[in-house]
Amino acid sequence: MQNEDPKTGSKLKPCPECGKPASGATLPFCSPRCRDVDLNRWLSGSYVIPGKETDPEDAE
Ligand SMILES: [Zn+2]
Repeated sequence: MQNEDPKTGSKLKPCPECGKPASGATLPFCSPRCRDVDLNRWLSGSYVIPGKETDPEDAE
């Protein structure tokens, strides 16, 4: 028995940035631009560089 999810299919999800119907390769965003906006927000908001330690022995 197949369990069909009513959320999947041909229904378009609204773009999380502007609310327009999203489709194609830029899902879940409507366009590369909106994807960029979200990405930039994510980068500026919570981007952490791991391993960036200041070694006291190497700080001379
Ligand atoms: Zn959008």
